Amino acid sequence: MAAYTFVDHKYDVVVVGAGGAGLRATFGMVAAGLKTACITKVFPTRSHTVAAQGGIGAALGNMAEDRWQWHMYDTVKGSDWLGDQDAIEYMCREAIPAVHELEHYGVPFSRTPEGKIYQRPFGGHMRDYGKAPVQRACAAADRTGHAILHTLYQQSLKHKAEFFVEYFALDLMMDPQTGECLGVVALDMATGTIHRFQAHQTVLATGGYGRAYFSCTSAHTCTGDGNGMVARAGLPLQDHEFVQFHPTGIYGSGCLITEGARGEGGYLTNSAGERFMERYAPTAKDLASRDVVSRAMTMEIREGRGVGKGADHIFLHMEHLGAETLHSRLPGITETSKIFAGVDATKEPIPVLPTVHYNMGGIPTIYTGEVVRPTKDNPDNLCGGLMAVGEAACVSVHGANRLGTNSLLDLVVFGRAAAHRAAELVKPNTKHKGLPADAGQNALDRLDRVRNAKGERRVADIRLDMQKAMQLDAAVYRTSKSLSEGVDNLKKIAASMPDMGITDRSLVFNTDLIEGLELENLMACANATMVSAEARKESRGAHAHEDYPERDDAEWMKHTLAYVDDKYNVSLDYRAVHTYTWTDEVEYIKPQKRVY
Ligand SMILES: Cc1cc2nc3c(=O)[nH]c(=O)nc-3n(C[C@H](O)[C@H](O)[C@H](O)COP(=O)(O)OP(=O)(O)OC[C@H]3O[C@@H](n4cnc5c(N)ncnc54)[C@H](O)[C@@H]3O)c2cc1C
Repeated sequence: MAAYTFVDHKYDVVVVGAGGAGLRATFGMVAAGLKTACITKVFPTRSHTVAAQGGIGAALGNMAEDRWQWHMYDTVKGSDWLGDQDAIEYMCREAIPAVHELEHYGVPFSRTPEGKIYQRPFGGHMRDYGKAPVQRACAAADRTGHAILHTLYQQSLKHKAEFFVEYFALDLMMDPQTGECLGVVALDMATGTIHRFQAHQTVLATGGYGRAYFSCTSAHTCTGDGNGMVARAGLPLQDHEFVQFHPTGIYGSGCLITEGARGEGGYLTNSAGERFMERYAPTAKDLASRDVVSRAMTMEIREGRGVGKGADHIFLHMEHLGAETLHSRLPGITETSKIFAGVDATKEPIPVLPTVHYNMGGIPTIYTGEVVRPTKDNPDNLCGGLMAVGEAACVSVHGANRLGTNSLLDLVVFGRAAAHRAAELVKPNTKHKGLPADAGQNALDRLDRVRNAKGERRVADIRLDMQKAMQLDAAVYRTSKSLSEGVDNLKKIAASMPDMGITDRSLVFNTDLIEGLELENLMACANATMVSAEARKESRGAHAHEDYPERDDAEWMKHTLAYVDDKYNVSLDYRAVHTYTWTDEVEYIKPQKRVY
């Protein structure tokens, strides 16, 4: 192996990721007096959070009466009873102060005529325990993520957080004796230098792994790097079988049209011009939960009622809303439709198709952000030194299906919770333990192996095989046959990883190398998803299994834990869902049939 040297850094806390979750954690930690480093592979304001459109959920009640208990009920129901209710209560209660804080930090929310934060309806958010849609999504036009991310970055700069921009985190450093996390190793992509960041707490805020699929709404950087690092550290990935398909990705490109479009009065039709959602969800109609709408659309297409030449997609209508509403409330998607579908949304319908959008699963944590390393006796045993927040984490507030607007909320609430917890756990400037002699060697070995990979196949070719297998076999609807074929296919594709070849051997801005490293992370995520899905013999939330169409609480109301080894073999275990609340001010919401 070539000789590599480390540049060493010591911090109280190190945060990996500068999306909404990472930035909220970072500046909260700095504000609490902790010496904090934030490492990010892209410039902070280019993180995928910038693309979030529709809104952030909080029961502010600015438009009509609303209560956090209703929000909690909707989230539990949306999760199809796989969410942990202590965490859900925490999120829905803390939503209100967390969004008010954002307002005070300077997020330019859209306003009501009285000057309050404007709120729009969103799928699955209802008043009075499911009676009728409510306006709960706090919005900055259709650029809410952009507004939040820029504000959080400004707050981080104001608090003098230290950023390491275009640093690619390779692997965690773990204490072989105690199993605790000691920090993280990262490659500075601009100079090729390798850095060891030692910290009392390491926070993974690396986002989702949408790019394991062929067609998704997420950025090319959403490659599940944190999940990959955690898997290599011997920790499990939780509930990876639950992948959200957003009903309205633009046909062909996969670019997102926010659910806020339907929140503002948009609706879907089939080839007969029928508003078919009225048949599938009589109360919520086009504003039913995403899994419900995506399945209805898939059914319409399958039964021959799709639109277009191939009868293979659906129309989203907005033209009746009028150009003025579209330009003030939904300017971004009006532009997106023009660019990516060639359609003037003020005059004609937009062609759409369910597209991979969000990963409910991820690194298991409790509501403080601390990562769980389950043991036989204690399913909630903590790993020590390690936290995860945002889409990379599985708290689990979204369970089997996330409601729109609850992710931006998750970022802010749990980024903030992690900062609070770190402030309790870490005394500023506490001396660090000595690192083990071989600390970081795991990261060097991996870097060196990928850098010198001499196989026949390009990274892009193996990645495409994986993305196609995921798209085909772990889709909106799944069957025993598709899933077992999927497991076999992915096994073969994973077995071809040693055939990967890199042509550029340098360490400076070597995108071939970075994509190879990212592919390893994606491969771990993809295999965990397929194997977990194959094992789950029921239908729940986003996991719609045609051979087992019913939810089976007796057998399957439990979180999946997938352990992935270095050959991408997956072994499964399970962990109990929290069937209790955070405080005794609300009761546990018992499982019910989920209808909208
Ligand atoms: C198009 C779109 C629209 C959406 N709209 C909404 C919405 O309206 N409301 C809502 O609630 N949710 C929405 N979502 C979901 C939500 O935006 C995401 O779940 C959320 O933004 C994820 O934030 P994050 O902070 O976890 O990660 P990200 O914003 O994805 O950031 C990840 C960060 O990790 C860093 N990183 C990753 N890997 C490494 C590595 N190896 N080394 C160093 N750094 C690394 C990246 O540089 C980046 O800074 C939308 C999602 C998409 C794709």
